[in-house]
Amino acid sequence: MESLSTNIQYLKGVGPKRASKLRKLGINTIEDLLFYVPREYDDRSQFKTLRECTIGEKASLEVEILGEGNVIRPRKNLTILKIPIRDNSNNGYLVWFNQEYLKNKFYIGEKLVVNGKINRIGGEIQIVNPIFEKMGRKDKVGRIMPIYPLTEGITNNEVIKLVQNALDQYLNYMDEFLPKEIIKKYNLMDIREAIYNIHFPESSLVLEKSKRRLSFQELLVLQMGLFILKNKNTSNKRGIKYKKIEEVNNFIENLPFKLTNAQMKVINEIEMDMENDIQMNRLVQGDVGSGKTVVAVIAIFKAVKSGYQAVMMAPTEILATQHFESLKKFYKDYDIEVELLIGSISQKKKEDILSRLRDGSIDVLVGTHAIIQENVEFNKLGLAITDEQHRFGVKQRAVLSQKGDNPDIIVMTATPIPRTLALILYGDLDISIIDELPPGRKEIETYAVGPEMIDRINKFVEKQIIEGRQAYIVCPLIEESDTLTIKAAEDLYINFKDKIFPNLRVGLLHGKMKPKEKDLIMEEFKNHKIDILVSTTVIEVGVNVPNANIMVIYNAERFGLAQLHQLRGRVGRGSYQSYCILINESRNPISRERMRIMQSTTDGFIISEKDLELRGPGEFFGTRQHGLPELKVANLFTDMEILKLAQREAMDIISNDPKLEKADYEKIRYKIQQLFGDAGKEIVFN
Ligand code: ADP
Ligand code: MG
Repeated sequence: MESLSTNIQYLKGVGPKRASKLRKLGINTIEDLLFYVPREYDDRSQFKTLRECTIGEKASLEVEILGEGNVIRPRKNLTILKIPIRDNSNNGYLVWFNQEYLKNKFYIGEKLVVNGKINRIGGEIQIVNPIFEKMGRKDKVGRIMPIYPLTEGITNNEVIKLVQNALDQYLNYMDEFLPKEIIKKYNLMDIREAIYNIHFPESSLVLEKSKRRLSFQELLVLQMGLFILKNKNTSNKRGIKYKKIEEVNNFIENLPFKLTNAQMKVINEIEMDMENDIQMNRLVQGDVGSGKTVVAVIAIFKAVKSGYQAVMMAPTEILATQHFESLKKFYKDYDIEVELLIGSISQKKKEDILSRLRDGSIDVLVGTHAIIQENVEFNKLGLAITDEQHRFGVKQRAVLSQKGDNPDIIVMTATPIPRTLALILYGDLDISIIDELPPGRKEIETYAVGPEMIDRINKFVEKQIIEGRQAYIVCPLIEESDTLTIKAAEDLYINFKDKIFPNLRVGLLHGKMKPKEKDLIMEEFKNHKIDILVSTTVIEVGVNVPNANIMVIYNAERFGLAQLHQLRGRVGRGSYQSYCILINESRNPISRERMRIMQSTTDGFIISEKDLELRGPGEFFGTRQHGLPELKVANLFTDMEILKLAQREAMDIISNDPKLEKADYEKIRYKIQQLFGDAGKEIVFN
């Protein structure tokens, strides 16, 4: 029986061989092919006259052959065929390279439509290597041509043919699955029309409408699926029901500083989660320096004082150690046993920790991913926190969670992303945002300069150091090779140590050093045994040295905005005025714009939104690593407006009909299951 799920092998024009090529492109069924969206379009629909064309542009023209073709051979392996033509504005030539066989293809007076690049050589107007067909036809010229992603052994023209066949034969099987009200409400194109026009659009306007329709449906289905998964995760998983305890308030009152309103708001959200009997799955987003650690400290305090153990996982040993130390400090008057588990501690110490963890005498374990190894067993794990989530995958989070009986989970990240995106990328988590910095921070002064300013900057750095401060000098990762990166860092280091600041204490830190060496250097920097730390981006995340008040970033143009922002967050942590100097070696306008943004704001959310705007789709961070289903049409980054609409609609639908029981939604249910593939099995509606 014919249907959209028919194997692609049975499509007209496809045999077993071609089918296997198509499968490589992810096309297994007719439906897959119909949703195989062009990667771009060649718009040959706009006709111009020779007179209207500008040099270098690609244009479609109606021309008449004026005379015989003429072939010249300027050198071996090169022939140039020129055929004189005219249109109703001017005379010119069709010119082909190495296509001599076209010489006698046309007759004088023949009318053609052509599309090619316009060139002018010695007063002659040429249309170079044009595509052509008889006037009146519209197969190649005079329309918008789809350009598909391809694989070896299959050409764009072949895919076009196959898509045409599939549209002819199967488009009628495509059913509308969106309820009529939604189509009307958002003024969406009908599904068949949209599918046809995503391949062979009549105009760019129609193309936009069909993209909009298909993106909307895709994002709607995605977001509905995520909401359903989240409801399911939360409503099914019973968790620990903590009690309200007065000690938490006392603890907060006795902190060395007053919490910001934003911190209080997030702590309340966490406490509410902890006190109900559903497992907490909460993301805490907060810009660098917003004070996420103390939020974790309070949550852990509550868990421990309620008789549970807690664990906190960080992506590097440096960070884990730092957390360990600050936790110990916060808890020093409260009889809470904190331990640190990282790869570099002795076997004996490790065994001791593991056994005290099992018998419950350790209350809080801090560590790196060493913590999720099998032999780490808790007595009564009630709260699991991971810091800097973007370094951990969803899987690792799940493993951590399995170390207890549905412990509450907090994920902390310093990557500020707009809420719309967070709803997608962290679709299975509730989101809390700390959108305020502690008071009294001096705004970091940021300057973008050219390399000619380096001497002056060095003098400035020296002055700060003589006043007792410390500095970071950052050099970029060099994409092509680690060796080059390390070489660059080492050169810079030697230059600073021997030539520029022979009287100051200069240290070097890069990713290829052994963890122990790295920790040693960081330790020395923290204890002010080092004045200037030359490093690669390994200092990017979370390190806290309040006395360091100046950061110089070499080749700042090679960093993304979000990364510059993270780096800059290493300074401005103490009471001193801090400085960030970006050395920009590029004249590229986008680089300049990025530098301008860095100078104009220190707000991570604004920066990440600008970053999204300036960088292309996908680059911001891969969606795949978040384990999301792949999108075919929509682009999470460029289709932000549509995403907002789809999110609002998804929210409405799911809150009114959480299991999608209305007849209207029957087909959407099927689509959701389809999109989520394996995970779709988890989406059980009843
Ligand atoms: P991040 O969110 O980047 O992890 P941290 O938790 O490391 O930030 O906090 C940065 C610094 O700010 C720390 O030294 C911390 O003790 C301090 N801090 C946190 N909250 C406050 C507050 N409400 N008032 C004053 N200082 C605070
Ligand atoms: Mg932190």
